[in-house]
Amino acid sequence: MIKNISNLQAKLQELIITQKNLPTQGHVADYIPALAEVSPKLMGISVATIDGNVIGAGDYQIPFSIQSISKVFGLVMAMNRIGDDLWQRVNMEPSGQPFNSIIQLEWEKGIPRNPVINAGALLISDVLTSRFSASKLAFLSFMRSLAGDDNIYIDNHVYQSELSHGSRNAALAYLMKSFGNIDAEIPDVLSHYFTQCSISMNCQQLATSLLFLANKGIDPKTQKVICTPRDAHRVNAILSTSGMYDQSGEFAFSVGLPAKSGVGGGVIAIVPGYGVICTWSPPLNKFGNSVAGTKLVSGLAEELGLSIYH
Ligand code: GLN
Repeated sequence: MIKNISNLQAKLQELIITQKNLPTQGHVADYIPALAEVSPKLMGISVATIDGNVIGAGDYQIPFSIQSISKVFGLVMAMNRIGDDLWQRVNMEPSGQPFNSIIQLEWEKGIPRNPVINAGALLISDVLTSRFSASKLAFLSFMRSLAGDDNIYIDNHVYQSELSHGSRNAALAYLMKSFGNIDAEIPDVLSHYFTQCSISMNCQQLATSLLFLANKGIDPKTQKVICTPRDAHRVNAILSTSGMYDQSGEFAFSVGLPAKSGVGGGVIAIVPGYGVICTWSPPLNKFGNSVAGTKLVSGLAEELGLSIYH
């Protein structure tokens, strides 16, 4: 662990320079057309520690579409709202399938494998839509309060783009409804889900807002209880086994941190007892995970000896 924060700052800078000098690998997501408009060259990293340091390098203050990183926050909100009933409706196993796969969902009678693949996040969106009178606003408020920043916003251009290209997510939601595992109206569930995916945040805001997961559920900035220690453990466990989709095994094998990616190119990694790393680089690999973002996390984790399996 680098204790001296200016040494860590220099390390982040070095990692960004090294990555930026490598040829670009991967492709920016284009199945949501608005995401394809983002420059593949942008790249940032930020580290927030539970003892109050927040540092970054590269484009760490430029907002990007958080996409599936929003699934972490949705999961926490749903756990807080309905408790253990949630686990009657969604499982906690890795899927070994692409994030938007539909095949397993029929075999398993409309019960998603876990809350961080699309089917699971749509199920969570149903819980939030059904249990909050204004779920989108509640979600945005949750994000703003965790980041301590009221300027965090929903990118309407991304939202509209997702809505008009959301057939696969609609199919997942309708299939779950056919098994009786969705309560609300499907257009409302989809609207909630696309809204949370369309939130824009930068690396610094994301790293800061997830500190509670590195601190047994307590936000170290405010001392507020965001979730129970048991639920912080559970979220971290799910992120370790499923957060990088069908690359989660390899990521655990080579890095060993609870992590979550989004098709906007963001990756967050939780270091329990220490802090949170957030990286961003839009080009994705075949699993839908940022190529350079994943390398930045693994480079830093290796450098600092960060792994939950030590
Ligand atoms: N909104 C995206 C989708 O539903 C989120 C996927 C992701 O970030 N992996 O396809």
